[in-house]
Amino acid sequence: MATCRGITRSGERCRGVAVDSTGLCYSHSPRHADARRRSASKGGRRGGRGRPVVNLSNLKQRLEGLAEDVIAGKVDRGNAAVAGQLLNYAIGAIRAGLRAKEVEELEGQLEELREMVERDSGRGEVRRASWGA
Ligand SMILES: [Zn+2]
Repeated sequence: MATCRGITRSGERCRGVAVDSTGLCYSHSPRHADARRRSASKGGRRGGRGRPVVNLSNLKQRLEGLAEDVIAGKVDRGNAAVAGQLLNYAIGAIRAGLRAKEVEELEGQLEELREMVERDSGRGEVRRASWGA
């Protein structure tokens, strides 16, 4: 198998295996940049966040529809009041879920930042050591 012709951040020749006709490995090939970004940003978590928002707009539509039906006399006022109450509970539950998810996401980002700082400070020490020698 061909070796990647890319150059690593440290200036050395990349030892990765070329994955396509560009002669570059998975990390260096621009063709895989999108897939790489997707997996690096942990898109799964962000994709999961979209759902509660969709649910909220769904519920909003139902509430609006319910209000219209009440005004048009299609729905009994008592039933509409109970249905509206239940929909409000559902919205509250979704909001609580969203907050929990946000905290979870922030915790993840904090952990990523902490790892980044640790990695950077580690690299800095290596550089300083080689200068001293
Ligand atoms: Zn490479």
